[in-house]
Amino acid sequence: MDDCIFCRIIKKEIPKEFIYESDNLVVFPDINPSADIHFLIIPKKHIKGIGDLTDSDGLLLSEVYKTVDKLVTDNNLNDKLYRVMVNGGKAQHVPHLHFHLLGGNWKKFV
Ligand code: AMP
Ligand code: ZN
Repeated sequence: MDDCIFCRIIKKEIPKEFIYESDNLVVFPDINPSADIHFLIIPKKHIKGIGDLTDSDGLLLSEVYKTVDKLVTDNNLNDKLYRVMVNGGKAQHVPHLHFHLLGGNWKKFV
């Protein structure tokens, strides 16, 4: 979508260094981190939010959580605290589905 900031980052119209990229998703650090480690895992497909997922997104969701597990391992979070969060409703500020990975000390509410 032309006016979606995450779509523009994914299309590389806005420069951003990715921590990880596959055919289906990208990962980059949150610009305003709420924890020591705060990454956004973002499907490339513009899905607005949880309510817009369909059965055909099952493999995509599996890839999201496999990627979370890789990031957890790469950042030595298995022995520390980590959480995966999705905001919805009025708590969601960017209307393009994304998963927050928060690890280490949590500084504030996402
Ligand atoms: P949410 O409230 O779940 O929609 O979260 C959106 C998140 O995206 C917030 O934590 C923002 O700090 C983050 N964010 C917004 N724009 C950017 C950007 N250009 N680069 C990195 N993170 C961003
Ligand atoms: Zn988008």
